Amino acid sequence: MKFCTICKKYYFNCEKHKCPPCWKVFHEEFLGDDFLKIYEYTYDDAAIEYAKNYDTVYELRLLEGEIIIIEIEPFNGGERKKIEISGELEPVYNAKIIKNE
Ligand SMILES: [Zn+2]
Repeated sequence: MKFCTICKKYYFNCEKHKCPPCWKVFHEEFLGDDFLKIYEYTYDDAAIEYAKNYDTVYELRLLEGEIIIIEIEPFNGGERKKIEISGELEPVYNAKIIKNE
């Protein structure tokens, strides 16, 4: 498995790989006048991918309850949408049957 140098996604077959559409993500408090390029299929997915980037830099502030507002538009033009992002941690429990010896 390799990962694409453009969209940073893993792929199995280079010839079949096609990058998802590119989006511009604006977040003034964090990026200033700049924008970040994110490759995803929808506004929501691009926002969530941005959230992961943001939380990596800011040590999981979204997961600790921070809420941020960003703006996203298709890279090649289109509607610019304002999106609120928050996060939460979810406990995970596991169960497995143990065989008697
Ligand atoms: Zn790609």
